[in-house]
Amino acid sequence: MTSFLGGPGSGKGTQCGKLAEKYGFTHLSTDELLQNELSSESGRSKLIRDIMERGELVPSGIILELLKEAMVANLSNTKGFLIDGYPREVKQGEEFGRRIGDPHLVICMDCSADTMTNRLLQRSRSSPQADDNTTTIAKRLETYYRASIPVVAYYETKTQLHKINAEGTPEEVFLQLCTAIDSIF
Ligand code: ADP
Ligand code: MG
Repeated sequence: MTSFLGGPGSGKGTQCGKLAEKYGFTHLSTDELLQNELSSESGRSKLIRDIMERGELVPSGIILELLKEAMVANLSNTKGFLIDGYPREVKQGEEFGRRIGDPHLVICMDCSADTMTNRLLQRSRSSPQADDNTTTIAKRLETYYRASIPVVAYYETKTQLHKINAEGTPEEVFLQLCTAIDSIF
């Protein structure tokens, strides 16, 4: 089980997809689980949409529930899980550790705010999401920086943490990730 920390647009989804294909891992993106939940128009989808439009974090209980359901559904046919975009704050990490277990490896995708903003604006042209206008992107980056520093510190003492330079091309970033994963699993 590997957790991917990194701001919006740092390339978590892109890299998890490539790693899932190479190693037979299952890619679980909290963003995607939330988008699915939104398109289901369930009772809690309105609540989730309001929170996401403000660029804030969805309550941890909802995310953990969605993640757990997805893990259980894939348990019998996977070589491991890549948990993309979670935990976003220390409280989520503690809850995940208690309910499911700590990740064996934590990857931190280091990327500048400029690069992340440019990538997200580019992506929004081809596949618009609820939370990709300029104002929301700035708010999401701010939320990410504020919450992620304590999460990195939390895992530094608990498990193996690898920081990856995520500014390069997808191929360059992928090579660094394969090296980190091969050194552990
Ligand atoms: P995240 O899941 O961290 O939000 P994504 O993987 O969805 O990020 O990437 C956001 C956008 O940036 C996508 O349009 C993707 O194609 C692009 N992208 C991802 N990694 C890179 C990279 N290394 N170089 C250039 N563009 C990238
Ligand atoms: Mg993503």
